[in-house]
Amino acid sequence: MEKVVIIGSGPAGYTAAVYAARANLEPLVISGNTIGGLLTQTSEVENFPGFPEGVNGYELTMKMQTQAEKFGARLEIANVEKLELTDGGVQKITLDNGNVIESKALIIATGATPRWLGLESEERLKNCGVSACATCDGAFFEDMKVVVAGGGDSAMEEALFLTKFASEVIVVHRRNELRASKIMAERAMNHEKIRFVWNSQIVEILGESEVTGIKVKNNADNSESVIECQGVFVALGHVPATEIVKGQIDMDDAGFIKLENNTSMTNLAGVFGAGDCADHRYRQAITAAAAGCRAAIDAERYLG
Ligand code: NDP
Repeated sequence: MEKVVIIGSGPAGYTAAVYAARANLEPLVISGNTIGGLLTQTSEVENFPGFPEGVNGYELTMKMQTQAEKFGARLEIANVEKLELTDGGVQKITLDNGNVIESKALIIATGATPRWLGLESEERLKNCGVSACATCDGAFFEDMKVVVAGGGDSAMEEALFLTKFASEVIVVHRRNELRASKIMAERAMNHEKIRFVWNSQIVEILGESEVTGIKVKNNADNSESVIECQGVFVALGHVPATEIVKGQIDMDDAGFIKLENNTSMTNLAGVFGAGDCADHRYRQAITAAAAGCRAAIDAERYLG
């Protein structure tokens, strides 16, 4: 019987592992599909405290892994196939390699993935002008023209943030009205640097090795046009990786795990949530790391 199992190996999972290991709980981390999580897919991280020169996302998560292992955390490279959760009892975890693990406490740190447009050109130009995080990459677009795809609160927030750097921000939305809240929509629509392209879908991101523009299709008359830009920020919302706990744990309508009273506790005693799978608002490496720390402390107290 394990004391603590942590599902997920991003900043939330590894920080939970560092804290749980230092509390002598010998945590077992289940890596998930991408060892190191989403952060390994970004290039330069410039906003993680302690790295004034910036740090490569992959390198940062590998350092977190080394730190967790140094204190006795174990890493199992596998995916979770099935979870059987209980309220205050034994948590049963079945892995895709056939292993079945039982644990007294469970920390779910499975993350979330951005919803992408699904274009081949988008995939090819990721980190070469295509991004899903203005907070992470906006500063690289000083005095440049950028496009934001989407019409929700995330898109408005990204667009407003990008006005600090970009010379012009063009929001491309597939309908002629925004999904965003009134206050965010008004703020964006009243901003002198933001322009809207309505009823339009991005059908291709242009450029060989870096973004040079986008091709958009007007959904009303099917006409196509080209908009020149150097950056494309895809802000179509996030999909939390919470399929495995669906129906067993309290979640919001979008599938993010609900946490109780500003803690990492879920509605099930002994089951804790940390990082982007339980946070649609901040979604930063540093906030995920902080959430992992909270989950480990809550798990330690629960076991105590
Ligand atoms: P939303 O699901 O609210 O919005 C997603 C947007 O992307 C929609 O405008 C949608 O278009 C568009 N979209 C989705 N798929 C595609 C596609 N394939 N092609 C083109 N467009 C697409 O996600 P958000 O991340 O914006 O918001 C999630 C939640 O988080 C909301 O509750 C929001 O209020 C909250 N939030 C709050 C913030 C704040 O208060 N500061 C900041 C960020 C988020 P369509 O409208 O046509 O469906």
